[in-house]
Amino acid sequence: DHPTVSKLVVLSSVSGGGLLAFSDNNQSQNLISDSAQGECKKKKVVVLGTGWAGTSFLKNLKSSSYDVHIVSPRNYFAFTPLLPNVTNGTVEARSIVEPIRSIVRKKNFKVEFKEAECYKIDPVKKKIHCRSRHAKNLGGNDEFTMDYDLLVVAMGACSNTFNTPGVLEYAYFLKEVEDAQKIRRSIIDCYERASLPNISEEEKKRIMHFVVVGGGPTGVEYAADLHDYAVEDLAQLYPSLKDHLRITLIEAGDHILNMFDARITEFATEKFCRDGIDVKTGSIVTKVSEKDISTKDRKTGQTGSVPYGMVLWSTGIATRPVIREFMKQIGQGNRRVLATDEWLRVEGCDDIYALGDCATIIQRSIMEDVVAIFSKADKNNTGVLDLQDFKEVVDHICERYPQVNIYLQKKKLKNFDDLLKGAQGNDKKKIDIEMFKQALSEVDSQMKNLPATAQVAAQQGAYLANCFNRMEQCEKRPEGPLRFRGAGRHRFHPFRYKHLGQFAPLGGEQAAAQLPGDWISIGHSTQWLWYSVYASKLVSWRTRILVISDWFRRFIFGRDSSKI
Ligand code: FAD
Repeated sequence: DHPTVSKLVVLSSVSGGGLLAFSDNNQSQNLISDSAQGECKKKKVVVLGTGWAGTSFLKNLKSSSYDVHIVSPRNYFAFTPLLPNVTNGTVEARSIVEPIRSIVRKKNFKVEFKEAECYKIDPVKKKIHCRSRHAKNLGGNDEFTMDYDLLVVAMGACSNTFNTPGVLEYAYFLKEVEDAQKIRRSIIDCYERASLPNISEEEKKRIMHFVVVGGGPTGVEYAADLHDYAVEDLAQLYPSLKDHLRITLIEAGDHILNMFDARITEFATEKFCRDGIDVKTGSIVTKVSEKDISTKDRKTGQTGSVPYGMVLWSTGIATRPVIREFMKQIGQGNRRVLATDEWLRVEGCDDIYALGDCATIIQRSIMEDVVAIFSKADKNNTGVLDLQDFKEVVDHICERYPQVNIYLQKKKLKNFDDLLKGAQGNDKKKIDIEMFKQALSEVDSQMKNLPATAQVAAQQGAYLANCFNRMEQCEKRPEGPLRFRGAGRHRFHPFRYKHLGQFAPLGGEQAAAQLPGDWISIGHSTQWLWYSVYASKLVSWRTRILVISDWFRRFIFGRDSSKI
């Protein structure tokens, strides 16, 4: 099955096991495998990425029946919700990261880590092609391939620039810890530059103009944090620049925080207005130059130019080039995001799973399944089902889609009952599929894509690990719903996302939260809720203690403004 593995197993028994690397002349690349003789029966699982999805998968993986390998250009996990706090020094970068090797060290099985990025996935040969960042120091041996039995793609996404000219050259992004550190330096850099002698008043104003493009949670939190930093700390250190500071938030849509309840959006807009943060909605950035930003009003088409000192680009995420290339290979080239089924398996590749921001679950329309299951029950294609068959059909659909069950029971019981009543008294009866479809159309339209959040990524990682932990058991005794196409049951229950709520920190020790059941909470008490939730969610006791002590440090001494 895997010639490369068996070849390496022979070699490793000669060398006494351990890591092996040798040149493959044909491909002028290195091939790395750690399969020791005793482990060759284990399925080799390769995890790409050490973000929320990959780390949650690794933390929850308990079965020792896998040979686990991690490939990621980052040898640590970063707690992204606290990244905006790193940009103003409320917390330090090292407080929100945890080395991946310490996370997996406690496992009762071996986990190997390679600090490299995967640049190509070959689903046919079941190999990934990787490249180390240490290209210069490895004398050309910076590339290697790795085979896999099961591949877990958790590579996240990259920032979406919408191909706007100048963004890559001049704007800052806030995706990684390095980005937050660069931003922190750049803010102080602007203050120091504006403090130099011989700087004209106009130039001073330009340098002290901080622009944020994108009114989503990250952009809004960054603007709020920057405002706090400027008012609470920098105003005392740079008193002459106090009146020169301007913060502008540019949003293409009609509102900021448009994924939140209107009450939160309104509160945030009013708070920003009181704080003097200029919110420009309905404005599209068409170009970023070295010193100014070109904008266009979405409705009137009027163009404008905004001089700036520093610009943060935060307009959402896009698919990574390596994933786009992979999508082309597997016939998903016309999609925007890599599609998986509800078991997180990449459509068309049974051995590859994708989770987190790099993929989206394609919720097949319920209608498609309704038609499939009706036609499966109606073996002779007569358009007629007997009552028992019909009941089974409905049961299958309700089992597969809990939403349908809830919907039928709570809302449309009458229709559903009518449907059954119509069928009663007759042994065979033509089932009105159209009526059933109509009853379901509302549920069908409610099946939306999941948001790209840490919450989704972490739940998917835990779900997949749980499936892997019980793979053997569920292969023998499948516990999932009945298959609509094909016989038997699915091995596992499909992934179901449980929304636990969402926060929007708004600065000045105030935050907004939208909790399940559309429960809204805004204000200072919500900020305390935010502190406690995030402190509890941190990945280890070490990071928890570091972050909490950073918060205390900030309360006592303020934020540090050294440009290091
Ligand atoms: P990531 O966490 O981005 O991890 C991707 C991993 O893949 C990384 O380790 C990366 O190094 C690795 N990788 C990249 N390229 C390759 C490659 N070629 N080969 C191998 N590995 C690769 N979500 C919330 O729910 N709540 C919040 O409060 C919140 N706040 C946020 C604040 C900020 C500033 C940001 C940027 C995001 C925030 N999010 C929040 C969103 C959340 O961080 C993402 O949804 C989450 O990180 C997605 O997890 P992931 O594992 O898919 O990707």
